Amino acid sequence: MSEQILHNLKIILQRIEDACLKSNRNPNEVRLLLATKTVSAENIKIAIASGQTLIGENKVQEIKEKYEDLKSVLHENHFIGHLQTNKIKDILKYNVSCVQSVDRLDLAEKLHQRLVSENKTIEVMIQVNTSNEESKFGVHPDEAIELIQQVAQLKTLKITGLMTIGLFSAETEKVRKCFQLLKSIQEKANSLKIPNLNLKELSMGMSGDLETAIEEGATIVRVGTAIFGQRIHPDSYYWNEGEK
Ligand SMILES: *Cc1c(COP(=O)(O)O)cnc(C)c1O
Repeated sequence: MSEQILHNLKIILQRIEDACLKSNRNPNEVRLLLATKTVSAENIKIAIASGQTLIGENKVQEIKEKYEDLKSVLHENHFIGHLQTNKIKDILKYNVSCVQSVDRLDLAEKLHQRLVSENKTIEVMIQVNTSNEESKFGVHPDEAIELIQQVAQLKTLKITGLMTIGLFSAETEKVRKCFQLLKSIQEKANSLKIPNLNLKELSMGMSGDLETAIEEGATIVRVGTAIFGQRIHPDSYYWNEGEK
């Protein structure tokens, strides 16, 4: 298992580098996030030991379960799943440094209230539903700018960028449209010169579409399957049934 993970990681890092070269980008501009849902702490540690620094979980329960095992190894943890407001406390307790999946004002406000009471701040990204699929979370693209403006007013939340899950399709040009849409929202938001707002990050691209995402400006690609293998649950388990 260990060798397989290291081998897969090597391939992914090469794919990232190749995609960067193809689009005249510096590979240092693109960070790999290990999407670690269902992956054991033991296997996550193998990837971290090889030099990876960033993981992302979809469920608070999994963060809890792996916390003790992972706390001795230096890494950063982002939350990339659907976040229910009653789980906010735990997100803060387990040292999540960024919530990439802020997709509604209610969530942002409750997160802010909690942070105020704990005298803390956190990084967030706004998740946009660029594929217009019912099955996916994320703010509607037409409402993204308004949400960004509202969240930017909450002083404990530092918006670092935008996140999306591209359309699942073998038609690359349709997938590309999702990433271009996210990029256009970033440019629009930055052009508005909203106080304290500079969206730098575009978190987009996964095992199947990271090349397209990098060509369209991704700064973080989130990869699970291509490194750790197939998961037991289909993605719908994580994406449209909410927190379990
Ligand atoms: C699972 C997941 C990924 C990684 O998907 P793979 O296809 O396994 O690479 C990326 N982003 C989110 C939000 C996920 O839930």
